[in-house]
Amino acid sequence: MATDEIPLSRPDITQLEIDLVTEVLRSDRLALGPMIEKFEQLVAAKVQREHGIAVNSGTSGLHLTLLALGIGPGDEVITTPFSFIATSNAILYVGATPVFVDIDPTSLNMDPAKVEAAITPRTKAILAVEVFGNPAHMDTLAAIAGKHEIPFIEDCCEGLGGSYKGRPIGSFGRVGVFSFYPNKQVTTGEGGMIVTDDDRLAEICRSLRNQGRGSGDVGWQHGTGAWLEHVRLGYNYRMSEMQAALGVGQIMRLGELMEARERVAQRYFQRLMGMSDIIVPTISTDTRMSWFVYVVRLSADYSGAERDRIINNLRNHDVGAANYFPPIHHQPLYRRLLENNMPHLPVCESVSQRTIALPFHTKLTDREIDLVVQTLDVMMRRSEFGRR
Ligand SMILES: *Cc1c(COP(=O)(O)O)cnc(C)c1O
Repeated sequence: MATDEIPLSRPDITQLEIDLVTEVLRSDRLALGPMIEKFEQLVAAKVQREHGIAVNSGTSGLHLTLLALGIGPGDEVITTPFSFIATSNAILYVGATPVFVDIDPTSLNMDPAKVEAAITPRTKAILAVEVFGNPAHMDTLAAIAGKHEIPFIEDCCEGLGGSYKGRPIGSFGRVGVFSFYPNKQVTTGEGGMIVTDDDRLAEICRSLRNQGRGSGDVGWQHGTGAWLEHVRLGYNYRMSEMQAALGVGQIMRLGELMEARERVAQRYFQRLMGMSDIIVPTISTDTRMSWFVYVVRLSADYSGAERDRIINNLRNHDVGAANYFPPIHHQPLYRRLLENNMPHLPVCESVSQRTIALPFHTKLTDREIDLVVQTLDVMMRRSEFGRR
């Protein structure tokens, strides 16, 4: 892409974050210090949970969550095929089996009826995703897990700041996991956070992220007895103080960041309204969105190849675009693993052929949004010949 490209995503960092990170750099405390605690408290409070456990990525957070819940070989975890691959990879990390169920065609989240139907005696958890930040069905899915007395886990990596029926995203499950990758609403460069009200689970996660140390946060007394006592097989999944400082600044600005994203989403809705072949996101009235990405769908008479061509043409015209998400069960890794048990998930398979994620970040100007929509319109007209 050329220099005047409109990127798919872009972080939003101000002097506040730069000052906070600089403060850490000028101190001697670069790991396991007060910034991590502060960041954990801010995020936990924001989503109304008792504990926040900062980790070095959302993926690590999912891994530790499943370990802490004791999920392992022989266990099944019901999850969505329409997500970023880290969701179901975490299930593979612990040796358990992901059981993919189809999605609801409107919200694009797991269809509760299909979840209910997939439960077996081996089901040990439901791992749901608020895809693109949409929390639809989270209460219903949590209730299904409750009825079957299995934990409900939210991979809420795409939903920080949003809420559903008055409840924050991240507060529906026994445990939730956020990501702070640079394309997320709030970034720490790399990073993630586990949130829960469960004291014991929080303690195990703290220990697991910190080399299995007995009391997770004794970090600073290097060389003391506690620092060198390892009670379980742990990992180094810790977040640094610099990352936490960046996160503190970002969380302080969460309201502002969400508003800026809302403005962009509304402008897209407005501009796309007249385009008959474009299906815009459907957001229910009991949802307060925290927009992660803005993903439109082409109408059913476009093929996957046609959609890919439109995405390529957008990119060639300096407009960032992506096919969020290809079905996880069709990824080469999963094709190999599933081999003879390949599920047929028609809604996911059809939807994922026709999605286009458009440029989406806080700094997108009205003029740029208009240009994106105009370019999309031209590409779709041009693609007419390729329609089925
Ligand atoms: C971003 C994301 C992850 C992974 O987070 P990382 O911080 O990149 O490891 C997991 N699940 C979903 C749904 C995501 O969007």
